[in-house]
Amino acid sequence: TTQTPLLTIPSSGQKVPQVGFGLWKVAPEQAADLVYEAIKSGYRLFDGAYDYGNEKEAGEGIRRAIKEGLVTREEIFVTTKLWNTCHQKDRAISMATKQNEEWGLGYIDLFLIHFPVALEYNPECTRVFKGWYYDGESQVRLEKTPIRDTWEALEELHARGVVKNIGISNFNSQAILDILTYAKVKPSMLQIEHHPYLVQQNLLDFCKDEGILVTGYSSFGPQSFLELPPSFPTKAAHTPSLFQAPLILELASKYGKTAGQILLRWATQRGLLVIPKSNRKERMAENLDVTAFDMDRADLARIAELDMGLHFNDPGVYLVGRPLR
Ligand code: NAP
Ligand code: NAD
Repeated sequence: TTQTPLLTIPSSGQKVPQVGFGLWKVAPEQAADLVYEAIKSGYRLFDGAYDYGNEKEAGEGIRRAIKEGLVTREEIFVTTKLWNTCHQKDRAISMATKQNEEWGLGYIDLFLIHFPVALEYNPECTRVFKGWYYDGESQVRLEKTPIRDTWEALEELHARGVVKNIGISNFNSQAILDILTYAKVKPSMLQIEHHPYLVQQNLLDFCKDEGILVTGYSSFGPQSFLELPPSFPTKAAHTPSLFQAPLILELASKYGKTAGQILLRWATQRGLLVIPKSNRKERMAENLDVTAFDMDRADLARIAELDMGLHFNDPGVYLVGRPLR
């Protein structure tokens, strides 16, 4: 099986694989088998979330692999995330505790605040997950919970040992700076959208200065958003595929790799972790095998010139026309 480099989380000293497997849009009925297959092909890091609705099944897949002796719990690194409706301190603690039980692995390696947006909780939506919408259809209801309350909940979970590391997702430098003014436990990781159309150089430099590791998601740019329902507002359909971009194809041919491998290697050479998801076994293997070759610095810089500052996953669309009252 393919080996992936281990990075060190500065605040805890814990090791984390640089390449992992993302669980967004993995159907719960497929998740256990897919995760089990991913472990067989060499994946050790899994990126989940309450929002993805497949934590219990993903945990089952990992437990099967452990039971069969393919891996130990210590070799596995599980990331999961707090959903926006659970930002209140007590709710965050009880949701995380429940999520930890669903994974069934004793503890969570990394727990992230999914978005810097607090939404009102609808108790009737606890069983069937409803994403951003209070009524499951169109109502976005904001809640007046400051991030500080949520961060303190994560620190409490960290102190109890439920989660080994804590971090944030979809935050910008300004929002992280605020957390750093009161954090007793600093964020270990920032997870952000990152691809050649969204290079985020300042944010990456800021995180480097602060000793915060960065995971890039949607490494293939528009690709992931093409499979979403038409109700999800995104510019993906009107953006040229990175798999067809002349520069990416030129480099694929130069280095003898696929376009997907060039995109993932560009991110990993920039020091990021990546968490590509694929339902297909061949691609799963291909996406893990992206650290055994190096591109020239000049080629990395040429890829970064594709930058358009383009977000496909922009939470702002949910807030337009909904002032906080
Ligand atoms: P992704 O993993 O970047 O892309 C998945 C898509 O790319 C699928 O359509 C997949 O199709 C295709 N694909 C995968 N490998 C490929 C390859 N080598 N060549 C060509 N196409 C390939 O998408 P993502 O889910 O947006 O991002 C990855 C992970 O990041 C997610 O699973 C999630 O864990 C995390 N994430 C986090 C956030 C956040 O807010 N924090 C947001 C988005 C994502 P097939 O399955 O058919 O191969
Ligand atoms: P991605 O860029 O990894 O995938 C894009 C698309 O490419 C997918 O639809 C996949 O089917 C397709 N694909 C995969 N391998 C391929 C291949 N070899 N050839 C052709 N197509 C291929 O995007 P993503 O799913 O958006 O992100 C990956 C992970 O990031 C997610 O699973 C999730 O874990 C995480 N994520 C986190 C957040 C967050 O807010 N924290 C948001 C989005 C994603």
